Amino acid sequence: MPLLCKDCNERRFPIAFPDQRDALWLCEKCKNFVNIKDEFVRDWTKEEMEENRKKLENFQRGVTTEKTPEKKRRSGVN
Ligand SMILES: [Zn+2]
Repeated sequence: MPLLCKDCNERRFPIAFPDQRDALWLCEKCKNFVNIKDEFVRDWTKEEMEENRKKLENFQRGVTTEKTPEKKRRSGVN
């Protein structure tokens, strides 16, 4: 499995596509996908990068709000 990128040695991540039988492996540094046989498939598109960035932002926002003890603020103090 192409766990590591041949070009930069960074970790690749499997991304599942509904129209594809097997997941494609993404290198976020080289911004390209290879298949399970470690063959170049295509570049990471701008749209996908944008989508990924948004997902990450939402995720981080979710994590930070969960950790903020906002609800434990003193109540009934005027
Ligand atoms: Zn790479």
